[in-house]
Amino acid sequence: MDWRVPLSDIDYGPEEEEAVLKVLRSKWLTMGSVTQQFENQFADLVGTKHAIAVSNGTQALHLACVALGVGPGDEVIVPSLTFVATANAALYTGAEVRFAEVVSSQDLTISPRSIEEQITTRTKALIVVHYGGHPCQMGTIMDIASRRGLAVIEDAAHAPGASLNGKPLGSHGDVGCFSFFSNKNLCTGEGGMVVTDREDLAEKARLCRSHGMTSLTWDRHKGHAYSYDVAALGYNYRIDEMRSALGLAQLRKLAGSNARRKAITETYRERLEDTDLEIPFNPPVGEPAYHIFPVLLPRGADRRQFIDRMRASGVQTSIHYPPIHQFEYHGARYTGVSLPTTEDVAAREVTLPLYPTMSEADVETVVSAVLGAL
Ligand SMILES: *Cc1c(COP(=O)(O)O)cnc(C)c1O
Repeated sequence: MDWRVPLSDIDYGPEEEEAVLKVLRSKWLTMGSVTQQFENQFADLVGTKHAIAVSNGTQALHLACVALGVGPGDEVIVPSLTFVATANAALYTGAEVRFAEVVSSQDLTISPRSIEEQITTRTKALIVVHYGGHPCQMGTIMDIASRRGLAVIEDAAHAPGASLNGKPLGSHGDVGCFSFFSNKNLCTGEGGMVVTDREDLAEKARLCRSHGMTSLTWDRHKGHAYSYDVAALGYNYRIDEMRSALGLAQLRKLAGSNARRKAITETYRERLEDTDLEIPFNPPVGEPAYHIFPVLLPRGADRRQFIDRMRASGVQTSIHYPPIHQFEYHGARYTGVSLPTTEDVAAREVTLPLYPTMSEADVETVVSAVLGAL
């Protein structure tokens, strides 16, 4: 389908093309100096001591769980209103998850009160998601975590460049995880990053990113090492130099493109103020990354019909998210889960197009399609 306004679009230009060509011509294709630079600059962005680049955000979340020692017998509390990978990362380790509620239809991040209700003697960690690039209630969440001795993983897939009280998202908890998938604010096709201030977690994540091997091809190439040992059950979660080069080029655009996302969001909010739509995160808290623009249809409205009408106007929309506890697999594994607020907002949510290269005219096209569809 040829959309008049797609849901998202990628801001690539000659910078990205040249960066990748330079890597190709160097013939060093994976985990070398470009990746090191990407990691260093990303650590600077988030303000953490360590950044470990991987091939996607799901691997970042899994490595975070592995580094924290999450495993069989443990429970990890996650929101249900998120991408399925948030919960799966914990399940891969043999741990079980417990689903927590969102705060409200205004704040679609995980509810601190619901977190407290889900804590058991088995709880080891929380994975909180900065939905749409909007900060979770990190002050309260970190208080609960330190009081109960729990580790906190921030799924910051939506939130590169965002902050709360001046502190970048991804640096509030024990570990932060980012995704650089094609539709994210910083995009490399596939890609991800683990960030942390903790030396022990960084070391474990680095080790397990590459088969648990104690030295890397790069070190041996540089003459630093002759052989290697395997010190843990690791994975191949390495990133390649082409993607790291894309990441570096995209990092230079991030502040500008997040500012543009914010301006478009503000226009949407003004233009849709007098409709029946409920607009979450209004007013916003902290400095969000404005990854997506979610709206809630009035209760009882026919969402399928709304989306069809938007499609007929050439406007692509999406749903963030079908709740995880209602998926066939997760619903069968965890029966009887009831999250009324999550279920209510998830049934009414529609995501409107939002991307930095969107023009004023594109925004108007979406707004008139919405007014027509309502
Ligand atoms: C995209 C995303 C992920 C997974 O990232 P991938 O790079 O696609 O593996 C995890 N959590 C959230 C909230 C995401 O949006």
